[in-house]
Amino acid sequence: MENRYFSEEHQLLKSMVRDFAQNEVAPVADELDREGRFPDELVAKMADLGLMGIPIPQEYGGAGMDTVAYTVAVHELARVDGSLAITAAAHTSLGTMPILLFGDEDQKKKFLPPLAGGEMLGAFGLTEPGAGSDAGATQTRAERKNDMFVVNGEKSFCTNAGQAGVIVFTARLIEDGEDRGISAFLAERDAPGLRLGKPEKKMGWRSSDTRSLFFENMEVPAGNLLGRPAEGFSQFLQALTGGRISVGALALGTGEGAYQMALAYAKEREAFGKPISQFQTIRFKLADMATQLEAAKHLIYHAAWLKDQGHEVVKEAAMAKLFASQLAMEITIDAIQIHGGYGYIREYQVERFFRDAKVLEIGEGTSEVQRMIIARQILEEAQRL
Ligand SMILES: Cc1cc2nc3c(=O)[nH]c(=O)nc-3n(C[C@H](O)[C@H](O)[C@H](O)COP(=O)(O)OP(=O)(O)OC[C@H]3O[C@@H](n4cnc5c(N)ncnc54)[C@H](O)[C@@H]3O)c2cc1C
Repeated sequence: MENRYFSEEHQLLKSMVRDFAQNEVAPVADELDREGRFPDELVAKMADLGLMGIPIPQEYGGAGMDTVAYTVAVHELARVDGSLAITAAAHTSLGTMPILLFGDEDQKKKFLPPLAGGEMLGAFGLTEPGAGSDAGATQTRAERKNDMFVVNGEKSFCTNAGQAGVIVFTARLIEDGEDRGISAFLAERDAPGLRLGKPEKKMGWRSSDTRSLFFENMEVPAGNLLGRPAEGFSQFLQALTGGRISVGALALGTGEGAYQMALAYAKEREAFGKPISQFQTIRFKLADMATQLEAAKHLIYHAAWLKDQGHEVVKEAAMAKLFASQLAMEITIDAIQIHGGYGYIREYQVERFFRDAKVLEIGEGTSEVQRMIIARQILEEAQRL
């Protein structure tokens, strides 16, 4: 696998992110989780290392690297801290990529350099209180009035919202009293009428920022319509396909981090006069974990590689996300089991990985939604045969 997907540049990036994660993130990850504190200082360091705009072209201030490179970075961050990995991934896949993919030249020139350079964070508001899996049920309305849109509605669970300089969001576009369909828009942090909710108190990803956004007659300039009117929904689905590869990488990293802890613990911990790694039940658990992680790695890097070759990856991204997120949940449970009672104690940190794993089966499309996407794709393929 190393040679097929990874160039020398990918390997260099991998060891750079691994060093950063081990030396600078690992010592504080547990404390950040306990305090539920957003790590401004680590985000600034990621910006210095060029990690906030990996797949953004150099002409817009990014690193100009590919999806595989971006996947490597998210994977490595998540081996140590899922919260930091989702902060970078939501910023990149959801807050920045839609502007690169659908923005006009003025929007790209204005927003991409500060986003890719990490001076500004991006966020993505699709989910609403009454529109989660059923994102087409969006109720937020953006009414065109002269040279601006007046927006009313609410977005829930918006990652990075409290830190973001710009938020990409969907709303129904209303022109001359007529609903033209779901469209995408950009809201800047200081938009009049934009109100932030309080940070959500979460089970996991506790040092990432998640909150609701309230649009109360929010004023958005007409130039902040992103892409063509009424294409917002399909644009977001496209952004989510790319995002799912990074959530797969996040799940892979979360599972791998917990597996590494369990492996080290099994070699050290003794029971009945020998290391518990000598017991077949423990050895088989470790063997299953390693095998499944290898399978997840192939699914994820294959999807990333296919995307870089210009292929459609709707099915592959959904499969990678579904498989890896369920695996992260299973592995973190087994990793706690291998730690025995100590696995239940915060100090051992393996429980943080378990709490961080659950949301991977929910965010950017639940496991049920991934199965709906995969089923639709395979049945369409079967139809074409
Ligand atoms: C920590 C966190 C961060 C998030 N970040 C963001 C973000 O940055 N931006 C954003 O827009 N959203 C974000 N989300 C929202 C997330 O994407 C949604 O929670 C998710 O899509 C599910 O929507 P819902 O919570 O409304 O659940 P629902 O859609 O109400 O689903 C409830 C249950 O019903 C199931 N279900 C629904 N429809 C079907 C169906 N047709 N068939 C079978 N089962 C079905 C679901 O799979 C689920 O099990 C975040 C969520 C969390 C928890």
